[in-house]
Amino acid sequence: MLSGWSTTIDPIQLADKGARLAGTLPLKGMRRLMEMCADEQGSVSVDLQFERDPSNGLRAVHGRIDAHVELVCQRCMGRLTIELHSEPRLTLLRCGEREDLVEAGDALVIEQPIMLGDLVEDELLLEVPMVPMHAPDQCPAQRLIADNKPEKEATRANPFSILEKLKQTDR
Ligand SMILES: [Zn+2]
Repeated sequence: MLSGWSTTIDPIQLADKGARLAGTLPLKGMRRLMEMCADEQGSVSVDLQFERDPSNGLRAVHGRIDAHVELVCQRCMGRLTIELHSEPRLTLLRCGEREDLVEAGDALVIEQPIMLGDLVEDELLLEVPMVPMHAPDQCPAQRLIADNKPEKEATRANPFSILEKLKQTDR
């Protein structure tokens, strides 16, 4: 069960216990993610399994994180509902443990207990599109451009038509 994003967890200890954290919490409380959102609506579902691999003794966390967020389309500035989905798979390391794995990425060095919300938010932020936009056929701004296109092209004079005429009179 999840009691709140501000719950402090020790991933190393959770892995040693083989604990599973699952539940749904409101988006509120994820400050960095909310800064990108149009409002505070939305929730985040988490299902994370912490475990220790008996073959090599390495601790890890894996599972899934799903969230519905309302972003702002950067083309029409309208609202845009996006589903964020992450399937994190992180090796959990103590300070100084297996530094080769840290450089390879996908490893989290745990120096002290961390906030559950930070762990989940870090993973979700990776899934937020750099420039959120509606699909082209669903974006009001894009439709406007598409509607105006044939008219504009028809009325736009060909800048080379004058040259064409000059060429013809030269002959
Ligand atoms: Zn749009």
